Amino acid sequence: MKNFETLAIRTQSERSQFNEHSTSLHLTSSFVFDDAEQMRAMFSDEVEGNIYSRFSNPNTTELIQKICALEEAEAGWATATGMAAVFTVFGALLKQGDHVLACRSIFGSSHTILTKILPKWGITFTYVDINDTENWGAAVQENTKLVFIETPTNPGVDIIDLAWLGTFAKQHNLLYVVDNCFATPYLQQPIKYGADLVIHSATKYLDGQGRVLGGLIAGSQTLINEIQTFARHSGPALSPFNAWVISKSLETLAVRMDRHSENALKLAEWLEKHPQVELVKYPFLASHTKFGVAKKQMKAGGGIVTFIVKGGLEKGRNFLDKLELISITANLGDTRTIATHPASTTHSKLTEQEREEVGILPGLIRISVGLEHIDDIINDIEQGLK
Ligand SMILES: *Cc1c(COP(=O)(O)O)cnc(C)c1O
Repeated sequence: MKNFETLAIRTQSERSQFNEHSTSLHLTSSFVFDDAEQMRAMFSDEVEGNIYSRFSNPNTTELIQKICALEEAEAGWATATGMAAVFTVFGALLKQGDHVLACRSIFGSSHTILTKILPKWGITFTYVDINDTENWGAAVQENTKLVFIETPTNPGVDIIDLAWLGTFAKQHNLLYVVDNCFATPYLQQPIKYGADLVIHSATKYLDGQGRVLGGLIAGSQTLINEIQTFARHSGPALSPFNAWVISKSLETLAVRMDRHSENALKLAEWLEKHPQVELVKYPFLASHTKFGVAKKQMKAGGGIVTFIVKGGLEKGRNFLDKLELISITANLGDTRTIATHPASTTHSKLTEQEREEVGILPGLIRISVGLEHIDDIINDIEQGLK
């Protein structure tokens, strides 16, 4: 098999009659049949082919094939957003009375799905502490169907041992689902450690340039078949245009992630020495409590660095207001460096106690380290901390 970088560039749908080098864009809602018999055969799944873009489209098919190659997955599906991917997985695989085990530090909207939406259909959940895996066994119930985690987590960049969780999931007969948004398949491939499904917000590093929304799911053929039935008829389809953009973006994923990680490590090391900074968290800092695990399962530490400014909420907000180069915006995984204040934005739906439990202190700043020159990034943060 070819290497990651080559697969990311050379996985391509069939060329049209124009023999274009780069993949063409197929902006069409439906496809034409040769005759009534072909239409009948395609609708009854006897013959494969494109019928309607809610079901499939050459651009989304190419993107799905690419994410499968990169995650080393049997099959996949594409959705309009990362949250549509999360909801599709839950909606397709869970039924009334099922129970979900999830790490407490998950993306804000995933938290809202577990706490506000799934309970409407009698699906319950238990949160477990990502750093306290010894107590996970006790949280498993007879009706626990699925374990859902992120690593590194948002925004605390906590790490869980994916291989350990693979054994745990097997032992308790749980579907093992990983939101691999922060690492991307270039830095970490959860399926190798036993994950049944990997979810992505393609909005983040996979596009990597802050342009489009998208979501991806990759995993076993059997599970994807169930997901496909759910998604084709409930309709969270990815637009062909966004699929085309994201597939093109994936051609540069490896070089981007290398530089994101290199810049982030330099920034984390610099922040650790700064007198105005209380705590720095980055998976590839030797001071990270799971440094060894991160080194084992990740190629590099990724682009997210979090730190706590001395002086709490006021100093944290003050720091954001002083930034000149770095953007204050809700996104992450962009070429542009972004600073956010999770306590008042992405995790504002949590109670103060819930935030404290996942380590989101008032002075916590999350930096999505971009691809600008590292000296310019550091200079802006230095003047912000003054
Ligand atoms: C952004 C994000 C999502 C949601 O993705 P959208 O594309 O914004 O819907 C899910 N999980 C994580 C970890 C994220 O960062």
